[in-house]
Amino acid sequence: MNNLLEADSVSKKFGNFTALNQVSISVPKGSIFGLLGPNGAGKTTLIRIINQITMPDQGQVILDGEPLQTHHVKDIGYLPEERGLYKSMKVGEQAMYLARLKGLSKSEAKKRLKYWFERLDIGDWWDKKIQELSKGMAQKIQFIVTVLHEPKLLIFDEPFSGFDPINAILIKDEILRLRENGATVIFSTHRMESVEELCDQIALIHESNKILDGKLTDIKKEFKTNTFEIGIRASNNLLLEKELSEKFMVSPANFKSLGDDLKLNVKLSQNDIPNDLLSFLTSKGDVSHFVELIPSANDIFIQAIKNN
Ligand code: ADP
Ligand code: MG
Repeated sequence: MNNLLEADSVSKKFGNFTALNQVSISVPKGSIFGLLGPNGAGKTTLIRIINQITMPDQGQVILDGEPLQTHHVKDIGYLPEERGLYKSMKVGEQAMYLARLKGLSKSEAKKRLKYWFERLDIGDWWDKKIQELSKGMAQKIQFIVTVLHEPKLLIFDEPFSGFDPINAILIKDEILRLRENGATVIFSTHRMESVEELCDQIALIHESNKILDGKLTDIKKEFKTNTFEIGIRASNNLLLEKELSEKFMVSPANFKSLGDDLKLNVKLSQNDIPNDLLSFLTSKGDVSHFVELIPSANDIFIQAIKNN
């Protein structure tokens, strides 16, 4: 069984409104799976179904080969989108309480919490009141409590919202490390910045339907346009640009260079070979830049939604 989790044709309605329409995902063991989509797409609804908070109308979820059952709750660490802590409790007290709910003994909970508090550089927060914490600070506590019992599946719903860029990097690195230590991770986001570095697999949900999924590298190959960004110093830039535009589709490129190079995006057709373009360029001048344009997760997100 290579998939830790499979959602099979899951549908969910709220009244007449279809929040999920036959959505299937497969999450390979040991992968980081990005559940992407605009606000209101249905990501949280799917995550709540996986966590058995909401029941699907149709379809089923399989965890490690078994249809979801109550006992699976302990196999999942879940950071919900709506995050609440008891305001009047102290940080350490609250963290201990939540850790004990996950079934850790008192001494084990304390040991692990101390370790994580040091790791995330918040060792001195133990006696602070929750109400003294900023949103991002409270989120760090919740992140710790989510991962503390080392479940095999971690689900983070919009984990980066509320974090400043420094803490977002910190959490991103921790997610990568958790995966290295054997966890499988699903996280949702409507912002694409974190996707490139984190995701092996993605599913894009748009208006309750899955419109794209697969390995991020495969999807990038599918969406690439055979366009090369080039920089060249030729004796006659104008003439070279004219010659290039007779053979290829060219448009101005927008990268920084130190000289007054001719900078262009050159789109090759199916039959053109990048090496031929490069040979042509080297015969015309000094090539300073030759890079294939690979679509970003953001480009793919926008393109897929536009095409849909
Ligand atoms: P996302 O997490 O992708 O932003 P959600 O799954 O939270 O989206 O919501 C998808 C849609 O379902 C939204 O239009 C939302 O208003 C609706 N929805 C979610 N939960 C409920 C509910 N309990 N009752 C009614 N509508 C809901
Ligand atoms: Mg959501």
